[in-house]
Amino acid sequence: MPIFRPTRRRAADAPRVGRSPTAITRRCLDSVLACARSALPNEFGGVLRSDEPGLITDLLLVPGTTAGRRHANFQLYMLPVDLGVAGTVHSHPSGALHPSEADLTLFRHWGRRHIILGAPYGPGQWRAYDGNGNEIHLDVVGTSQGPTVPSTYRPRVVHRDEAPPAAPLPDDAE
Ligand code: ZN
Repeated sequence: MPIFRPTRRRAADAPRVGRSPTAITRRCLDSVLACARSALPNEFGGVLRSDEPGLITDLLLVPGTTAGRRHANFQLYMLPVDLGVAGTVHSHPSGALHPSEADLTLFRHWGRRHIILGAPYGPGQWRAYDGNGNEIHLDVVGTSQGPTVPSTYRPRVVHRDEAPPAAPLPDDAE
């Protein structure tokens, strides 16, 4: 059996697109904090994108993400893999900046950089975590130019064969 081996090798100094981000733009950070404030009293959740290697640049709102007072459910299966996705961001209206057990499960499952925002979402009321739930440092780069309007990822309509509706049972009236 032939074994497929990728033969292309990248130069040692080439930026790796998949590099774990070590920084976030001020605009993106302002944007997620503004979204969290406007979602109060509910949680807010979104996906972080990295347009440049190593730098979180965008907030992506994922349709189907439902937010409640105590949780934000991510519909991550809707995301394609080529978006430069870095991880997730969500808010805690309670003000807590540490991940819950459910958050840790999400972090371990998906993405490499995660941000938790704590109410009332002042400039410093956030923490970043890696996929293991360990707190990490993210540099904040750039100047504040007003929050960017988050972009919404709109998935193309995917045709799904739905199971035909179950035939009604014949009425067994005698
Ligand atoms: Zn949480």
